[in-house]
Amino acid sequence: MTQFDDLGLSQPVLQALDLKGYSTPTPIQEQAIPPVLAGRDLLGIAQTGTGKTAAFMLPSIDRLRESDKQIPFKSCRMLVLAPTRELAMQIAASAKDYGALAGLKVQSIVGGTSVNKDRNKLHRGTDILIATPGRLLDLIDQKAFNLGSVEVLVLDEADQMLDLGFIHALRQINKLVPKERQTLFFSATMPKAIKELVSGYCNNPVQVSVTPESTTAERVEQYLFMVQQDEKQSLLEMILSGRHKVPGDLERVLIFTRTKHGADRVVKKLERAGINANAIHGNKSQPQRQRALDEFRRGKTNVLIATDVAARGIDIPGVSHVINYELPNVPEQYVHRIGRTARAGKDGVAIGFCAEDERAYLKDIRKVIGIELDRLALPDNFRAVVEGVGPTKPAPRGQTRVSTKKIKPKPAGKPKPSAPKHSARKGRPGGGRPGGGGPGGPGGNGGGQRRGGRGRRGGSGGGSGGGGSPRSANG
Ligand code: AMP
Repeated sequence: MTQFDDLGLSQPVLQALDLKGYSTPTPIQEQAIPPVLAGRDLLGIAQTGTGKTAAFMLPSIDRLRESDKQIPFKSCRMLVLAPTRELAMQIAASAKDYGALAGLKVQSIVGGTSVNKDRNKLHRGTDILIATPGRLLDLIDQKAFNLGSVEVLVLDEADQMLDLGFIHALRQINKLVPKERQTLFFSATMPKAIKELVSGYCNNPVQVSVTPESTTAERVEQYLFMVQQDEKQSLLEMILSGRHKVPGDLERVLIFTRTKHGADRVVKKLERAGINANAIHGNKSQPQRQRALDEFRRGKTNVLIATDVAARGIDIPGVSHVINYELPNVPEQYVHRIGRTARAGKDGVAIGFCAEDERAYLKDIRKVIGIELDRLALPDNFRAVVEGVGPTKPAPRGQTRVSTKKIKPKPAGKPKPSAPKHSARKGRPGGGRPGGGGPGGPGGNGGGQRRGGRGRRGGSGGGSGGGGSPRSANG
């Protein structure tokens, strides 16, 4: 097995890795570090959670040390562009850790903070700058910064930068960096627009890929509820409180909505149901976002609602479930979302809530991921519960308050677990997890595929289209 020592990294970097407790390189690190050390441009197709930050940061730190140039006035030697504030800050924290013994100066600038402070802190320049494109261009426009000394340029999560509308910013930045430089380009997906961007930025890049193009995280089990829009909140509350069992042990749940208001609405309603939750989205201030993330990381709050933009770059070990409360309208976003679980070698569960008017999104997602999602059955008598005429008895208090303790589903009993026949995990050759079902999940599923048909609007039990068992409408 390859070790970090075999990759040609310097002692200060190896010691920093030791301090971090990393013993072996991840596949992308193994593939990327040698060519980057040799000065090649790189195109890395990798999702978050694969260790790509170290893959570009470790060899770059060594190259900067070797070239041993002065810190340039109002400029930087290595520029890392990231789509979101959270990701930029996370990369900066990693860069500081990895470069702790290399004596390099690391700074970060992101939107939503004081421009004046950024101007002051960059006045004397820095070795490594991690920036979101908008803030960087602001400083360049104000003549407070220039890119004339960039030796290494990194574009991280380039597909996300395009989704966020940074294409013009990226074109502009490309004109401002020296032609003689090294470019390391990372993207989880490779649509045509990204390929064009790569050809503008990179010079004969070495290509490394740790996931086939546009496939979903391999260790994520993926499921789907076909559910009406007005039923989603009830379903979510039943799942979070353990009254409707889903595959896997609910520990830390990240829930995605498409809009900021949607996120706030879900939080409010969950709180009314006695479930503590926080939201992160663009209308929240940076300190609010940071606090919500910290509480989630520390396990103070185990339910976090996020929009796509805000969740980008979140690295939180132990997200057991991603719930797509609303399906994303950009299918690649689905890949990013579910990649928030199953990180650092763990397994994870992704559950989508698909309403009638989201079927087109579902179709697009299926095309991108190339697999069907397993249908889960709604709770028995679900429509009656939603309409308030069914058994709405809340779970005992200890089980609904999920803020300070692990969310544990109630033991299987009533209602029956909505166990799938098989997971929709993208199979690695021989890569099935023993036991088949979710972690600690529906081991014995008791055949609970019944769908609560009574009172469901439309009468047909929601019809088909979810891609699961054709019998699932009636159990
Ligand atoms: P990234 O994909 O760069 O966001 O990294 C995902 C997570 O894996 C982060 O928490 C890293 O600290 C961690 N990580 C990166 N490389 C290694 C490694 N070689 N061994 C163990 N953990 C790692």
